[in-house]
Amino acid sequence: MNVLVINCGSSSLKYQVINSDTEEVLAKGLCERIGIDGRLVYQPNGGEKEITDAAMPTHTEAVRMVLDALVNPKTGVLKSLNEIDAVGHRIVHGGEAFAETTLIDEKVIAAVEECTDLAPLHNPANLIGVRACQEVLPGVPMVGVFDTAFHQTMPKEAYLYGIPYEYYEKYKVRKYGFHGTSHSYVSKKAAEILGKPYDSLKTIVCHLGNGASVCAVDKGRSVDTSMGLSPLEGLVMGTRSGDIDPSAMEFIAKKENLDMAGILNVLNKESGVYGLSGVSSDFRDLEKAAFSGNDRAMTARKVFVHSVLKYIGGYAASMNGVDVICFTAGLGENDGLIRQMICDNLEYLGIHIDGEANKVRGEEKIISTPDSKVTVMVVPTNEELAICRETVEIIRKK
Ligand code: AMP
Repeated sequence: MNVLVINCGSSSLKYQVINSDTEEVLAKGLCERIGIDGRLVYQPNGGEKEITDAAMPTHTEAVRMVLDALVNPKTGVLKSLNEIDAVGHRIVHGGEAFAETTLIDEKVIAAVEECTDLAPLHNPANLIGVRACQEVLPGVPMVGVFDTAFHQTMPKEAYLYGIPYEYYEKYKVRKYGFHGTSHSYVSKKAAEILGKPYDSLKTIVCHLGNGASVCAVDKGRSVDTSMGLSPLEGLVMGTRSGDIDPSAMEFIAKKENLDMAGILNVLNKESGVYGLSGVSSDFRDLEKAAFSGNDRAMTARKVFVHSVLKYIGGYAASMNGVDVICFTAGLGENDGLIRQMICDNLEYLGIHIDGEANKVRGEEKIISTPDSKVTVMVVPTNEELAICRETVEIIRKK
């Protein structure tokens, strides 16, 4: 089965075509600057990356261009569009309505629209992607894979905020969590690599990228995670503040003469290690700056590590133990020094890191020593493959 995996943003659209039998990526790329001018990036498996500037007034034209590239007689990877058996859409917020991957129909679209309040930047863009694909690929089944779905197993004590209960009842204000597809894929993969039943392990997954979150997975179920109602809560991230005393927002708003939208803009886009360092949101730049004597860059890295440590410690406590800790995403997979800084403070859990193994970048690897009480691993995430697998599962059940 060939699955087109779509991750649609407000002005961009990332795609992959995956053969689900071999799990080979046949082609991948993205459309950028949709509604502005338009650029298609297309790369067939084993081929050169092609970049084409072309008008893309809406996502429908973007999807059309992707499909044209896929069936292009010279560089395409499909003979015809009939070879696309299903489309898997990443949908950011499924609220409480979606605890599982779902075949998309009008009812599902309406339910996702109802969650728009909770993800005003993401859900409308995701739905535009669904509509564009429906228009251009009529009759091809569409499947929604939700970032929030994996975390719907969290117990009330983990997802409720300590605010008046009626805000949860009336407005569904609660922790939802994100990166669910990644946390689920990585925790399952770790169990597979270790040859242990998924439902026998207590795992903490650290998804450390530009957006970052930690998840506690107990016996294959998400029981807590660091992101909340929105992806702003939790760890200090590239440009997001993570946890902050809410009264600091009013204080800064008054001093800087900002309204709520202005404050949220600062917390989402001008904060995190970028705001702390004044250098960059990219950890590679921070490392360079830090080791060239930039104190703020060094401090920003330490603040980040400290925030990860607090979540790992918290989840080891709330799960009453931990068997496996996984590092994933851009930073988690590639930055051995940050992993070492984190693990140096986990000796109290009986964790010992093998310095040589920890040199790994972007590969599955156990980085703890054989006598470490907790197995620490690098497990590269693959959200597109996870979306493809879930899409196929739903189509086969149909
Ligand atoms: P992601 O959001 O998962 O793509 O991760 C992006 C972040 O990962 C970047 O901001 C970098 O800080 C970090 N990153 C990516 N590649 C490397 C690398 N080779 N070494 C260190 N950090 C990296």
